[in-house]
Amino acid sequence: MSRVDQLFEAAKAARARAYAPYSNFKVGAALLTKGGKLITGCNVENAAFPEGVCAEGGAISAMILAGETEIAEALVIGDAALCTPCGGCRQKLKEFAGPDVVVHVADLNEVKRSFTVAELLPAGFELNEKD
Ligand SMILES: [Zn+2]
Repeated sequence: MSRVDQLFEAAKAARARAYAPYSNFKVGAALLTKGGKLITGCNVENAAFPEGVCAEGGAISAMILAGETEIAEALVIGDAALCTPCGGCRQKLKEFAGPDVVVHVADLNEVKRSFTVAELLPAGFELNEKD
């Protein structure tokens, strides 16, 4: 199985566990870390809508918990024509991924498009203090 296929299957399995009773829009995310770990996340909604978390954010939290801080490749899956990461998640991905890291965007059948982090978030915010 190719690396992208592995990311796709992992994200799809994560999506199946999403908690989205309000929108019924389930999203899954999978991250391959520089250390070789495959880490997933799903969206988790809340009755107080802004308190929900995106699949990418959940995956990033799990990645940090697993002791990894560098994303090598990512995939987001949702039942939409192009389920790209929201603006906030683009900034979250940038924190842990270089500008050339590829983020694949898939529907339930296949990868539809692939973007670099720089394409998703040109001129993203960065503190000068960060090394
Ligand atoms: Zn998001």
